[in-house]
Amino acid sequence: MENTQKELMEKIISLCKRRGFIFQGSEIYGGLAGAWDYAHLGVALKNNIKNSWWKNFVENRRDMYGMDASILMRQEVWQATGHVDHFSDPMVECPKCKNRYREDHIQISDDGFQHCPEDEELLSTPKQFNMMFATKIGAVEDSSATSYLRPETAQGIFVNFKNTVDAFHPKLPFGMAQIGKAFRNEITPRDFVFRTREFEQMEIEYFVRADEWEKYFEYFRDEMLEWIEEIGIDMGKIHELEVSEEDRAHYSKRTIDFEFDFPFGRKELYGLAYRTDFDLNSHGLEYIDEEKGEKMVPHVIEPSFGVDRTVIALLASAYTEEDKDGDIRAYLKLKPSIAPIICAVSPLLKNKPELVEYANVKVFAPLKEIFGRVAWDDNGNIGKRYRRQDEIGTPWCIVVDFDTLSDDAVTVRDRDTGEQERVKVADLEEYIKERL
Ligand code: ATP
Repeated sequence: MENTQKELMEKIISLCKRRGFIFQGSEIYGGLAGAWDYAHLGVALKNNIKNSWWKNFVENRRDMYGMDASILMRQEVWQATGHVDHFSDPMVECPKCKNRYREDHIQISDDGFQHCPEDEELLSTPKQFNMMFATKIGAVEDSSATSYLRPETAQGIFVNFKNTVDAFHPKLPFGMAQIGKAFRNEITPRDFVFRTREFEQMEIEYFVRADEWEKYFEYFRDEMLEWIEEIGIDMGKIHELEVSEEDRAHYSKRTIDFEFDFPFGRKELYGLAYRTDFDLNSHGLEYIDEEKGEKMVPHVIEPSFGVDRTVIALLASAYTEEDKDGDIRAYLKLKPSIAPIICAVSPLLKNKPELVEYANVKVFAPLKEIFGRVAWDDNGNIGKRYRRQDEIGTPWCIVVDFDTLSDDAVTVRDRDTGEQERVKVADLEEYIKERL
């Protein structure tokens, strides 16, 4: 069955709610625009994404230093970098319904003007709207107590550049990496977790000599593509966009967006920017190049990834429907390393204590100890269990039946092919490890 892109998105959102991946924020109070809550399976998926990223870009390398900086920083940080003055989007307003839109999200009509999508009124001329969430620190109500929830994780890295150099004495080129929340008061949050007001970023600031920026820009372009492929995003839906000068952020001399064909259109998934020496200069930071015996300011290549956009790209890549004589089987074809649950263990019948005990003691408990992401599923009949596990992307369902009691073998059913295999209980760990 062919879904339209709109239907596909609706199915993904509905699956996320029904099966416990992502819920609307503050839903019982009517919902909060631009805020989403990750549930049990969504957290597992996000953790797998973040762990894969951290392993690939930090742990497996010798030139990367991790950070987990405070979200609150002194307001001078954001003044120095120009965020207080420039971190804004152009906003237009409808004089009738008072809805506000990001100017670059509204098409120009045939008459050469922008009209309100709700009521066709002519929209106002654009005003700059600063997207940082301001907040007050402490009990004093003066302007010096103003701070901002960080709109990017990058600055938490730059302000710790000196301390990191003093602590670890890294040689150029080297990088600092951080995963954490960022906040932007988006004018029009939309498209599920694609554009939210609170989201997670995975960012690297990679410090290089000025004359080497192009080499490392190309290097990280390849590294990013490799990781995108590794986690299982559909490469046929990835496109690179060279961002024009007028569309680039104020600190960037070159930016490539990695776009993805989301069900709601081709949009930015990740960005790769050459930030020059803008940030270190803004904070008055420098580096002593021991090789050359001189002070210098390194230049920066910044690969920037959104966790939440990764979640949708993965779900949209993985969502598959199979028509079996009019009966639709929906499943998430996620890689076993990324799937929230690696395998589900079931006794064939839940009212047979001998099956339940065998499944629990000899299969579930040992696998759970080894792999962690193992589920116990004895709800409904076997067909229903398979459907449920298919929908959440569990690669293998393991069933303990009456034969198991005599032959110590179980049925392992594959999510993608539906094929079933008898596997000795003693070989299960190896069976899964080989396929992970
Ligand atoms: P856009 O043009 O879509 O607003 P951006 O160019 O402002 O995005 P960056 O500043 O480059 O985004 O942020 C780096 C990454 O952080 C993005 O590639 C994206 O994955 C993620 N990101 C940015 N804004 C949001 C948001 N509002 N919600 C979810 N993820 C976001």
